[in-house]
Amino acid sequence: MEYRNTLTTCTYCGCGCNLFLESLDGRLTGTIPCKTFPVNEGRLCIKGWNGHQFVQSEKRLKKPLMRKNGELTEVSWDEALDFAASKLKEIKQASGPDSVGIFTSAKVTNEENYLMQKFARAAIGTNNIDHCARL
Ligand code: SF4
Repeated sequence: MEYRNTLTTCTYCGCGCNLFLESLDGRLTGTIPCKTFPVNEGRLCIKGWNGHQFVQSEKRLKKPLMRKNGELTEVSWDEALDFAASKLKEIKQASGPDSVGIFTSAKVTNEENYLMQKFARAAIGTNNIDHCARL
């Protein structure tokens, strides 16, 4: 049996507590709070303690779906991303960069949110960027 502890950031809110994900033979088995991280100092809320459970859920969407002939169809990441990129370009060309808005999530890291605002401002050319924590 291979047991591993992997240091990562909780994905459930913007506090960004650090924790170790425990895995046994490649399957997540538990969570341990990181004692040395200054944000949480060895503590986690109930979401953080159980945050690993969704990863292996049967209901979890693991591949992109696109509607084709009215049916949601599994496609490759390349196809989904190419489609999204082409539609964003089309909308930007037809109606200007401010016709695009980007909405990010508290369930990603601060670094990922930073990248999304860079994408909005530098790639799309809009300041229409917001975050679900403001709702
Ligand atoms: S453990 Fe709780 S407070 Fe900390 S990041 Fe996760 S959800 Fe937020």
